[in-house]
Formats: sequence, C-alpha cells, structure tokens
Amino acid sequence: MTPTEIIIKKRKGRELSAEEIGLFVKGAVDGSFADYQLAAMLMAICVRGMSPHETAELTMAMARSGEMLDLSSIPGVKADKHSTGGVGDTTTLITAPLVAACGVKVAKMSGRGLGFTGGTIDKLESIPGFSVNLSVDEFKDRVSGVGLSIIGQTDKLAPADKVLYGLRDVTGTVDSLPLITSSILSKKIAAGCDAVVLDVKTGSGAMMETVEQSIELARAMVDIGRATGRRFSALVTDMDQPLGLYVGNALEVEEAIRTLRGETAGPLLDVSLELGAQMLLSAGAAQTREQGIAMLRQKLGSGEGLKKLKDMIEAQHGDSRVIDDLSLLPHAPSAIELRAEESGYIAGIHTASIGYAALSLGAGRSRKEDVPDPGAGLIMRARLGDFIEKGSVFCELRAGPRSDVKAAETLVRNAIALSNARPEPQPLVRAVIN
Ligand code: URA
Ligand code: CA
Repeated sequence: MTPTEIIIKKRKGRELSAEEIGLFVKGAVDGSFADYQLAAMLMAICVRGMSPHETAELTMAMARSGEMLDLSSIPGVKADKHSTGGVGDTTTLITAPLVAACGVKVAKMSGRGLGFTGGTIDKLESIPGFSVNLSVDEFKDRVSGVGLSIIGQTDKLAPADKVLYGLRDVTGTVDSLPLITSSILSKKIAAGCDAVVLDVKTGSGAMMETVEQSIELARAMVDIGRATGRRFSALVTDMDQPLGLYVGNALEVEEAIRTLRGETAGPLLDVSLELGAQMLLSAGAAQTREQGIAMLRQKLGSGEGLKKLKDMIEAQHGDSRVIDDLSLLPHAPSAIELRAEESGYIAGIHTASIGYAALSLGAGRSRKEDVPDPGAGLIMRARLGDFIEKGSVFCELRAGPRSDVKAAETLVRNAIALSNARPEPQPLVRAVIN
C-alpha cells in the first residue's frame, strides 16, 4: 500500500483497514508520508468522515505512536479531566485540587493555549518558578506524595498527534469529529489514567458550536475511550460566555485561588464541582453526583482544596506564597476600563471574540514561538442576563507593552449584544454521558 493508494481510498469514502490507518500514523512520525500527503489524508478524513471502528483504530495507533505511561505503581485510581477548550475555563485549577483533597489521585497532562482558547500549562507557568516540565518519575512521585500533579505533554507522548495537529491547524481540518476524538483520546490513553472525565464545551466559544454536534463528539469519545478498558465519561457544558470572569494566564490563576478561598462563586465554581463530582463517581469515591458535590463543597469550605493547590505549587518549585498574597502574581502595567455606550441586558456574548481579545492583549500566541505575557488579559464585569447602565464599566482590559488595546476593545465591544429584554438563562450542563 502506498500513501497515494490510501489517500484515494479515503477520498472515495471507503473504510480504511487497521493496517492502512497504521501506515498513515507511522508515516506522520517517521516521514514515510510527506507533509502534503498527510495534509491530503487529513482533508479526506475531514470531508468523508470515519466509521466508529476507523476512529478507534486511528486513536489507538496515535496513542501507540510514542511512549505509553504506566501509572500502575501508584496505588488507587488515577483520575484526569480534559476540556475541549474554552475561554475563562479555569476549571482544572479548581477541580483537580478539590478532587485530590477528597483522596483521589489526579495525574494530569495539560496543553498550552490553542487558537482563542487558554491552556492550563500557560496559566500555571504564570506562577513564579512553577515547573511544568517534570520528568515522568518526578511526575509519578508528586502524584503519589501530594496526590496531584499537572505537567505539560512530553514530546514522547503521542508524537503523531503533534505532527497531525500542526498540519490541521494550518489546513482547515481542525473541526472534524474523528480528528478531534483521536487527538484528545490518544493523548489521554498514552498518559495512563484509569478514569477520565471529558468536558466537551458547546457554544460560541467552543470547537463545536451546536449542542447536537457537541453531544455527538462527547458520545464518540466516551465510546472509544471505554473500548480501551478505561473509565470514560463526559459532560457537555456551556461556553456561550466566558466561564469565569477573568481571561488571561495569571488572571485565571487569581480567579481560581479566589474561588478556592471561597471568595467568589458562580458558573466557574458550579462547572468545576460538576466535573469533580463526575471524577469522584468514576473513581468510585462517591456513589451519586449529589454525594460527590457535597464532598467537594466540604473540601472547599475547610480550605483543604486551597491547601492542595498550595502543596502542588510547592512540589513543582513554584512560589506558593501566591496563595496568600495575589500581588506576587505577575500583573500587567495598565488597566483600561470599557464603559457601556448604551443601556440594556446582555443578551449574547460571542465568546471566541473575547478569547481573541485576550490574545490581542498578549495573553496567547499568534506564532508558535511566541511567549505569552502572563499578566495580560481582561476581566468581565458583567455576565449574560445582567443589565448594564450606559456609562458603567462592563469590562476591564489589562495591557502590557505588546498589547493591541484598540483591537481588543473593538473585539470586546462587537462581541456583546444588548437587548431590552432579559434573555432566558441556559443550563450550565447540557448533557451527561456516563
Ligand atoms: N484539543 C486537542 O488536543 N485536540 C483537538 O483536536 C482539539 C482540542
Ligand atoms: Ca483548557
């Protein structure tokens, strides 16, 4: 079988065999498929789709394209969560410490920001000294001892995804169900966790905008994940507005700390608790969602969740004094208040645009080699359904030397739709697949 024959077969919409899929994945890693052949293949998959069987084969071939971590030397169930990507989505920094405080080990490999979405690794790196590059042994040691560790994806894990993702990003082949499924799951499977909860976002700040598409993606990922013998479940959650009010790396760390201190509540905490309860259920530490939420709330109230985050920061060489003193986090030099030009209810927020606004302030990357400005970003002062008075501040930009403040302001203003009528509130959790 040559690369061309395999491309033609998929282009004609026929089902590929495990061997053909294996050759394609091997070709991505060892160069036996040229980049243009990989790109043609990705486009054929994107346009023609894949059967559940093909998607499962692709996922496993990608998972096996590099090292597979073995966490079995660590006693107990190792749990993980993974979001498909959102804006102001700081759930990991709240959920993971709370779940670990309940006694379930959390071993998580996270990504950097992608497109308009933020990445946990970039957020953690905004904490002075924090290291996301532990060796596998150091990672296992922290998971055993602290009960929680979050590190960046190593290059040895699912290397095929690294190649294919880079090509998808620049060939218009990102939003394909088999490609998203295999990308996320191959990394989760190679990372070796026993129980994984997927947070599939839906709405104007998500990869899948409609609830139907998001449910289909969640179901496909859970089915394939389970076929590997691991415990997979998914929540489909709202991304029709930024989940938290803070968007940006250090800003999101600040919001997570404030939340774990019990100073703020709202959708970010609510979704974090739902994900945490699902993790406890999957790990067998809770029997019902309600019991799981109660356990997590107890750890929130007692301060044990906050303590766990502090322990993790310390164990990964970060300055854990940030927990008690937020002024030790990096801050952008200037704050610009945006005032409403009219009065009205916030009836819609184009969430991806809010993410792009944070990027234009310097919170992310426009090229792969860019280093995000840790203090840059924005703070929303109003949410969907709030009434804002003309002249009142509805958003605050945090800008540094590389910020394009004008672009950010335009993006934020155009993202917000005002109305005379208060919109109907939408539920945060749209579907549970378990
Ligand atoms: N996150 C990933 O890692 N891969 C995708 O394809 C989408 C989101
Ligand atoms: Ca994320």
